[in-house]
Amino acid sequence: MNKLRAWARFAPLPLTVKLMAVNILLVVSLAAVVLVAWRMLPAEADAAADVILLTTAQRTNQNADMLHGALRADVLASLLAGQAPGVTIASVRQSLRTHAQEFRAEIGRLNKMPLKAEARHSVVEAYISGLHYLAVAEQHVELGLSDRKAGLAALPVFEGAFEEAKVAISRQADELARASEQVQTASRAAAQEAQRWLALAAAVSVLVGWVCVALVARSIRRSLIALSEVAVAIAEGDLERRSAVATEDEVGELAGSINRMADRLHEMIDRTRRDAEQGAFGRELVEALEMADSEPRAHAVVARAMREISPAHAMELLLADSSNAQLERAAEHPELGAPGCRVDAAFSCSAVRRGHTLQFTHSESLNACPALRGRPEGARSAACVPVTFMGRALGVLHATGAANMPLSGHQLHRLNALGAQAGSRIGTVRAFERTQLQAATDSLTGLANRRTAEARMRQWFHEGRSFSVVMCDLDHFKRLNDTHGHPAGDDALRSFAETVRACARGQDLLARWGGEEFAFLLADAKAEDAMAWTERVRQHLAQALRTRAKPVFTASFGVTHASAAPTPELLVRRADDALYRAKAEGRDRAVLADALPPADPDLLPFAGRNASEHSASLDLQMLATED
Ligand code: GH3
Ligand code: MG
Ligand code: MG
Repeated sequence: MNKLRAWARFAPLPLTVKLMAVNILLVVSLAAVVLVAWRMLPAEADAAADVILLTTAQRTNQNADMLHGALRADVLASLLAGQAPGVTIASVRQSLRTHAQEFRAEIGRLNKMPLKAEARHSVVEAYISGLHYLAVAEQHVELGLSDRKAGLAALPVFEGAFEEAKVAISRQADELARASEQVQTASRAAAQEAQRWLALAAAVSVLVGWVCVALVARSIRRSLIALSEVAVAIAEGDLERRSAVATEDEVGELAGSINRMADRLHEMIDRTRRDAEQGAFGRELVEALEMADSEPRAHAVVARAMREISPAHAMELLLADSSNAQLERAAEHPELGAPGCRVDAAFSCSAVRRGHTLQFTHSESLNACPALRGRPEGARSAACVPVTFMGRALGVLHATGAANMPLSGHQLHRLNALGAQAGSRIGTVRAFERTQLQAATDSLTGLANRRTAEARMRQWFHEGRSFSVVMCDLDHFKRLNDTHGHPAGDDALRSFAETVRACARGQDLLARWGGEEFAFLLADAKAEDAMAWTERVRQHLAQALRTRAKPVFTASFGVTHASAAPTPELLVRRADDALYRAKAEGRDRAVLADALPPADPDLLPFAGRNASEHSASLDLQMLATED
């Protein structure tokens, strides 16, 4: 358990530290080997010194033994001095002096040698016996040289001393030999002990080194295999996979690098996926808006897109219509509703004025939009995207959420896309509707034009709808022009249109047929109702002209019901005939076509009716009646 704990502490260390630790362990093992050898060395050296000492002592003993014999030869030579050739007193004395000096020196050296106690005893004994023998030999030589007979007589005394010294020297030789053998045995034992220790220390250091290297290698190998598995998993698409190796060594660094690489890869793939989603959202938005052929439908698409963008942010689309600068809510988040932006005009909105998206993290911060502050629901985060078409501000897309919880980058991107696409579509629809309106409207009076009236009449006719047709012509309009000028004539046309508009209902169609002629289609009106209506118009006109002090003029009307003719063309013709009758009967009145004979289909086709032609015929009629 302790080992495991120690390894757990060791395992996270950097590889260099591990290798250093192994190195230190090896050095320690080596130091142990050296220490063992170092400790063995003195014993070995002591044993060797003892061997040398004893060898020297033995050699000295042998020298002493030799000199011991030489001194005896000197003693015997002293007895032959002067009698044997070459043996003189001087030569004997010289030889004795030399041998005595050397013998003393040898036994003295032996005596001073630091021998062990066992050998020491025989050395001292040999030293004492030697000195005694030397003294006896010197005395005997002097005696023999001076008195040969006395010398011969004392010879046994000398021999006694000689034998005694010989025994002592020989015992000393034995002791020294025994001591030498003991020392050599001890020296061999010490050497063997040293070898054993050295072998053991070497084996232990090799084992320690091997174990350490194996542990380090195992830790690296395991971590690398784990890392390799992680790398393979990531490569095969498991981008959530991460290495759990969190050590501070090089393997830990590698694991960190692989994890960072996986994070980065994850981010990149997420971004690519988000971009793809963004692209899909943009495409769907464009497709949905393309299908919206009116503004309300475009607003509904915007509301649905708001839900897609965020389920946690209230949103609204505020638009100013083309005639009115006031912002009005056109769409809101289907579930969370509208944030209720207090900006009322497009150019009061900071985002519109600055022409780019603004995002506020906290509505109470210093640089937040003033319209955001002090909301009853508390502090909010907000994003405001200007909605424009061809550089002209249409309004603003506004989103709010909890304070400090603004739209994410992804959501903001989508909101921007929604602002751009909504602006483009709403602008296009408005332009299209404006063009259509212009094509269908008479520019002077603002009423529908003849084409629109004809189309609507055909439509209602084919739908089988009940409606009345009123053809109208202003009376003596040429005269009004001539008297008051053409602008006054235009003004009179506009006044008449206003009066008619004031008398009509929303579903009626009021058209300028051409010149000073008009056609009115009164929806769901019977012929009598239409007659009553023309009466109201005439009265309102008279009233209006009186009030505004304008040139007075009147109008004549021909009225019929849709059921009175089999085709729209004949219906117009019939109403026209009634109008003709009204002119003929004195103008400023309405005539119902019911009393007239049915129109001749071959006479005047619907599309070929011509105002000037009709006017000319009326003029002729008028002249005829005046006459
Ligand atoms: P009647 O009562 O028989 O219809 O007589 P009238 O004078 O109204 O009829 P006529 O056909 O003789 O003259 C129609 C005049 O309306 C001629 C033309 O100058 C005038 N007019 C037609 N269109 C306009 C217009 O747009 N503006 C003005 N100021 N006058 C117009
Ligand atoms: Mg006229
Ligand atoms: Mg006319």
